[in-house]
Amino acid sequence: MNTLYWFTRDLRLHDNPALLAASKSDMLLCVYVVDPRWFAPGPLQSKAMGGHRWRFLWQSLMALERSLRPLGQRLHIAYGEPETVIPELIHSHAVDRVIQSRQPGTREASQWQVIKAKTAEAVFQQFETLSLFTEGSLPIPLAELPDTFSQFRKRIEGAGDRPSERLRIRTLTALPPPPGFPEDNRGDCPPIPEPQHPLLFLGGEAAGLARLHEFLYTTHGVDRYKETRNALEDWDASSKFSPWLANGSLSVCEVVETLTEYETCETRNESTYWLWFELLWREYFHWYAIRHGANLFRRNGVQRKRRQATFYGHRFKAWCEGNTEYPIVNAAMNQLRETGYLSNRARQLAASCFVNELGLDWRYGAAWFEEQLIDYDVASNYGNWQYLAGVGADPRGLRQFNLVKQTQQYDPVGTFIDRWGGEAEQPVGLHTVDAADWPLL
Ligand SMILES: Cc1cc2nc3c(=O)[nH]c(=O)nc-3n(C[C@H](O)[C@H](O)[C@H](O)COP(=O)(O)OP(=O)(O)OC[C@H]3O[C@@H](n4cnc5c(N)ncnc54)[C@H](O)[C@@H]3O)c2cc1C
Repeated sequence: MNTLYWFTRDLRLHDNPALLAASKSDMLLCVYVVDPRWFAPGPLQSKAMGGHRWRFLWQSLMALERSLRPLGQRLHIAYGEPETVIPELIHSHAVDRVIQSRQPGTREASQWQVIKAKTAEAVFQQFETLSLFTEGSLPIPLAELPDTFSQFRKRIEGAGDRPSERLRIRTLTALPPPPGFPEDNRGDCPPIPEPQHPLLFLGGEAAGLARLHEFLYTTHGVDRYKETRNALEDWDASSKFSPWLANGSLSVCEVVETLTEYETCETRNESTYWLWFELLWREYFHWYAIRHGANLFRRNGVQRKRRQATFYGHRFKAWCEGNTEYPIVNAAMNQLRETGYLSNRARQLAASCFVNELGLDWRYGAAWFEEQLIDYDVASNYGNWQYLAGVGADPRGLRQFNLVKQTQQYDPVGTFIDRWGGEAEQPVGLHTVDAADWPLL
């Protein structure tokens, strides 16, 4: 059996059931496809991939390649549209089987269908490697996914402790040989931008696992996580697992298993529970995205609720550039542009300002986050944006944060605002419209 393993958001050898299945082959071609369309602006102004995530992804791919080499394997990185690249590789290597991790997101699902339709000679298999549960082991049928996170959590926790059906799978130590490799065209990929700030995150499985152990066993940041997690800055205030979880360098099952071991051997308290609780939010949005398909990206959201919102170019630009009348939001947006990371609280404030104070269509804000975030995850990003815009998984409707109160509470002496230059010299007011603002890009 000749297998093509298409790496996507599962860039790891540990706990990877899809790669385990692919390892039962005579020949294995490991492929990652970099799609040129990620780097061009889309209909909502922003690109699907900005510089921060691209750098992190590239580091992750290089790390994966280094892990594959001792197993006699290598990673073929192709620059091109998967709908063309994958069928060509299937034909040129007499591939009988294509394996991939199942991903949320309509673009990903439709690509898979298009490729399948083009290449009837191969068998196509998907495995669930991005989530804690598989669709089959979820205690709720997907069609009955609750409308709110609370109901989801209660159903999950009511069904038993933590998912035990799919215990983590050991790191693979043997793989079948690769074929004679096609010529790599990775050199055509866009250049990797130089970072403006010392790098917070280093891509790759080893770095992700190291952070997991650091947050639990070295700094014990997890022991006080519930009290610290809303801080606007501070490395150990939250786990910082998200970039590795987002591209699959770190398995969420590995995180939960390690957390459970930690609770057994070290400390178990409200904070350790809260890390599990937040990982359940991620799980909820994962299934929410699969369940709701295209409605994840529609302005009226999954609730199909009409909301008054429009697109003012000057307001959008001021928000992206950290040049609004709201210093805390400016600081957050500057930090996002310069580093690719934002705390959860800062994301909430920036998004709330976008939909409430600025009255903008939430999808443009979500698309800007998609471009900028190093940990962009289609389900968590669009799910959280819908939630805050009052068209998603929140029965209470629109969520508006009081920016003045939030500043007093989370940045009382202005350290965050100063550090990220939140006091704009000439902030753009709500009603400044100039012909020169169009077109934006
Ligand atoms: C508008 C908006 C957009 C967001 N976009 C993304 C995104 O693209 N990718 C992403 O991973 N997270 C996103 N989040 C969720 C959250 O802000 C980040 O997961 C978190 O800040 C990452 O830092 P951390 O790993 O230190 O989180 P921690 O607080 O340590 O949480 C641990 C893990 O739990 C999960 N988690 C925590 N909060 C949430 C949440 N609200 N929703 C879903 N999962 C959660 C993440 O996997 C996170 O790594 C978004 C939140 C908002 C409000």
